[in-house]
Amino acid sequence: MAKIISGTELSAVMRAEIGAEAQAFGAETGVRPGLAVVLVGNDPASQVYVRMKGKACREVGFHSEEIVLPEDTPEEELLGVIDGLNAHPEIHGLLVQLPLPPQIDPQNVILRIDPAKDVDGFHPINVGRLASGDRDVLAPATPAGIIELLVRNGYDPSGKRVVVVGRSNIVGKPVALLLLRDARGGNATVTVAHSRTRDLGSVTREADILVAAAGRPKLITRDMVKPGVVVIDVGTNRVADPTRERGWRLVGDVDFEGVAEVAEAITPVPGGVGPMTITMLLRNTLEAARRIEGAGARASR
Ligand code: NAD
Repeated sequence: MAKIISGTELSAVMRAEIGAEAQAFGAETGVRPGLAVVLVGNDPASQVYVRMKGKACREVGFHSEEIVLPEDTPEEELLGVIDGLNAHPEIHGLLVQLPLPPQIDPQNVILRIDPAKDVDGFHPINVGRLASGDRDVLAPATPAGIIELLVRNGYDPSGKRVVVVGRSNIVGKPVALLLLRDARGGNATVTVAHSRTRDLGSVTREADILVAAAGRPKLITRDMVKPGVVVIDVGTNRVADPTRERGWRLVGDVDFEGVAEVAEAITPVPGGVGPMTITMLLRNTLEAARRIEGAGARASR
């Protein structure tokens, strides 16, 4: 039976580290890292994420601001809010929760965020820096969390064959770029599979490490993996479950029971990649604060 790679456990360890580092940074500079999260509308899932981000900030001693705007907010108004946060001295990281209502173009929003405060790593400048192999870029949180889960559990991707299933801008593509980078957690031989990949199983069976990020329950079955594979299941899919009071439960993209019988290690859903995403957002915010304050100190000398 596979070893369980726990994101819940690693998150707790890393959040303690981040809290201690933030405290030391505060003692040295008098500055508290600050994260602003902007939510437009009242999508229930987004409301939950925004609350979780605020709570995580407070737990590690960060300053946090949650800005909630009505569903019918015009794009110009949101861009004005972003301008204010870009200029706000107590805010070092800022993100706008996606998805956005139809009157707002998410690309315009992402472009407006100061790349130095772009803790989601979605601004084209940061995407470009990641693609050019920059080791110091603010990398998107979920992909960065996947790398930490691997490295800190003793599964360094260096030299390994890694197959990523999914090519989205949020998970598949950036995790492939991190795995390819000549840096800690990189140096893998990376294959990216997607919805047009023919005979997916023949590709995934090549993997020493398999990252599943397709958003399709039970897409990866036992016959599609090599014995001894390390599996990171990014999928978070709601499936009907009449035994639960709420009527559904969360499952990943991997048929956990079948694959866990042959894998060396596997992340559970929930409790795997999910908790790491907010943890890496905190890490990016601390990093952004260090750089912004460092640059400010240099400029004032
Ligand atoms: P997406 O829908 O944007 O992209 C899915 C990708 O999977 C696409 O590139 C598509 O080509 C590929 N795909 C779809 N069906 C496929 C198939 N049958 N075979 C091969 N490839 C296929 O989704 P996303 O935003 O990348 O998210 C992927 C999953 O990860 C979702 O379940 C999402 O909820 C989850 N997710 C989890 C976290 C977290 O923090 N745990 C964060 C982001 C996304």
